[in-house]
Amino acid sequence: MNNQQVECGCDEIPQSLLSTDEALDILLDSVKVTSKTSYLELDDALNGILAIDLCSSINVPDFDNSAMDGYAINLETDKVNIPGGLTFDITDRIAAGSIGNNLSPGCAARIFTGAPIPKGANTVIMQEECSLTDNDSKIEIYRPISLKENIRPKGNDIEIGDLILRSGIKLMPQDIALAASVGINKLEVRGRLKVGVFFTGDELVDPGIEVKPGQIYNSNRYALVALLNNLGCEIINLGNIEDSLDSTCKALETLMHKCDIIMTTGGVSVGEEDHVKPAVELLGELSLWRIKMKPGKPLAFGKVGNAAFIGLPGNPVSAIVTFLLFARPFIKKMQGYSDILNNTIKVESNFDWNISKSRREFIRVRIDNSTIPPKVEKYPKQGSDVLSSIVWADGLAEIPERSTFSSGEILDFYPFIEMTS
Ligand code: AMP
Ligand code: MG
Repeated sequence: MNNQQVECGCDEIPQSLLSTDEALDILLDSVKVTSKTSYLELDDALNGILAIDLCSSINVPDFDNSAMDGYAINLETDKVNIPGGLTFDITDRIAAGSIGNNLSPGCAARIFTGAPIPKGANTVIMQEECSLTDNDSKIEIYRPISLKENIRPKGNDIEIGDLILRSGIKLMPQDIALAASVGINKLEVRGRLKVGVFFTGDELVDPGIEVKPGQIYNSNRYALVALLNNLGCEIINLGNIEDSLDSTCKALETLMHKCDIIMTTGGVSVGEEDHVKPAVELLGELSLWRIKMKPGKPLAFGKVGNAAFIGLPGNPVSAIVTFLLFARPFIKKMQGYSDILNNTIKVESNFDWNISKSRREFIRVRIDNSTIPPKVEKYPKQGSDVLSSIVWADGLAEIPERSTFSSGEILDFYPFIEMTS
């Protein structure tokens, strides 16, 4: 059980109207990295968040070795850079994994890629550049030869003490390979966060059931579970909860001692049917933020028991966008990622923005990568209920508050490929 404390900063900012940057700063300041870690076998460590810096205790390679199939030669140093035409007696054969004998001056050892360079040898010539003579007992080399050709020196890749992997990376196949190459067989990764979710709204019905008049399908439930799965969270899903204070309190009580985070969508406005806010206030503490952004406000943040609480808006586009902009960096910080902020790229609008607005907007846009910078076009319907806009789009373009511009404006673009896949 994780017992980290999350401070919601509730006292300082009740019912606040915040900019997106302020809201993100407060969220991120409040979060502590999970203290849960476990050691995983390399085959199980993919996508884990590395919990410590890893240094190598060996050199890789640990010995000088051949970069080619060819012949290791003891080239007498007074013959360096001679124009070629030398002959060497073949006195040894060294395969990868075996150690050769001392090589005398004027002698050659048949050698294979990765095999240790024998004592006495000071260069390796690839087999294609050697001709066998005298019943294959000698080689002749016609081109000029230099010292240290085709020799991979000890420590060429990694030296003892080198920092090979940094704490906070999400382990990719190549990272796991590098750990293996220095002899590490287990990796300490951060424990998976437990996230409890439930959904409020008596209008909600799960797909597969026929909707009656006035009902809608619960899409947020599936969006949230998929978004959390993408982040590697363990999910406790209580599904749809009746829109009453009692049911909402019961759901919170079920989750508050089991989870690192509790997340909900809907019910955080101040309408009579919005019971999430009073329930969280009853059992813990809560700030209801009206964030100066579109889509999005309101966002609720607090804590219940040991769990952080994040209440996303009910409208499907708002729920996904606020998850991506706020909950995702929050979760990544708690998971121990070193790189928690969403990446943006610069794009050029192919549309005008004629009306200055006090809220920052995150509009659904499609990107055309055939130009530099890439151009974006916006979906015609930008309502927070229009879920198809987010499927049509490749990402979000950020429209700064109080701005107007003509086509050609440079904007920040948040690619879905990074945030939702
Ligand atoms: P609320 O925040 O509860 O007032 O909900 C705002 C809007 O989002 C309403 O139109 C709800 O019907 C809709 N909504 C709330 N929860 C969901 C959900 N889980 N899936 C789809 N739409 C929802
Ligand atoms: Mg509702």
